[in-house]
Amino acid sequence: MTHQLESIPPIDYQQLIETIYHETKHLAQLGKVADYIPALARVNPDLFGLSVVTQEGKLHYAGDHEVPFSIQSVSKLFTFTLAFSHLGSSIWNRLDREPSGTSFNSLIQLEYEHGIPRNPFINAGAIVVADLLLDLCKDPLESLLSFIQELSGNNQVNYNEDVAESERLTGHRNFALAHFMKSFRNIHNPVEKVLDIYFHQCAIEMNTDSLAQSVSFLVHNGINPLNGKTVLNPSQAKRLKALMLTTGLYNESGDFAFRVGMPAKSGVGGGIVALIPDVLSIAGFSPALNEKGNSIACIEAMERFTTYSGKSIF
Ligand code: GLN
Repeated sequence: MTHQLESIPPIDYQQLIETIYHETKHLAQLGKVADYIPALARVNPDLFGLSVVTQEGKLHYAGDHEVPFSIQSVSKLFTFTLAFSHLGSSIWNRLDREPSGTSFNSLIQLEYEHGIPRNPFINAGAIVVADLLLDLCKDPLESLLSFIQELSGNNQVNYNEDVAESERLTGHRNFALAHFMKSFRNIHNPVEKVLDIYFHQCAIEMNTDSLAQSVSFLVHNGINPLNGKTVLNPSQAKRLKALMLTTGLYNESGDFAFRVGMPAKSGVGGGIVALIPDVLSIAGFSPALNEKGNSIACIEAMERFTTYSGKSIF
């Protein structure tokens, strides 16, 4: 007797994200828009966008996928990638690569750990990376922007100067973190200059279409599919995805890995970007956050995405 393998129809990602969009949109009501800076507190909490870019480069979207938003800590992914591509493993002289288990702006571990941040995706770690970029690039803000524009294929991506200034005026914790690390000699440049990079990277704006596209290089093992350029070598790309899985959502990284099963990075602007190597990347934006500073509707949407599609990294 012969068994005929039934061919499995390909997943209709457009249909899938539209369904998930409608199922999860109302969840924004359960969260709170970040209000620690006035520029973010003004964002409409009802905005919700989802975008998927497949390995073949096809874009699918639902909701407010064209509305630019403040990517905030998602930018830590790009600054780290830029510094890692230049420095390779010597970057670990200045940073660790363990989950912190503490909130993104916590000071607590830095004292015990002699000014070495637990990972590049908490604020302390990103501030060290900003310090590294000042040494690596002649004009770090210019280099960072063109790097992100190339990855996203969108030369409209830009800094929002009002948000950057608002961050500076209210960034007391970030100043404290930078000065504290400087006392351990883990910040080399003047604190004002380092934080100017940090506040600007947080104030980068883009929409979910561009954000999903901008991590396609990790779907393609380190190569930007838009121009064939190597962004990271395969070993570096592997390590970055491991870091995203273990630390990308601060002290909610374990729960996100458990529920969703994709390497990801979040920000308090309400954005989350995630990916499945060789398959696709997905970005979401919904500004209402849970108490860990992560978007409630985006997490639920991504959990449904991996559940319904049967695709994750596990
Ligand atoms: N600008 C924010 C801060 O430094 C970024 C934090 C985040 O997105 N988690 O507090």
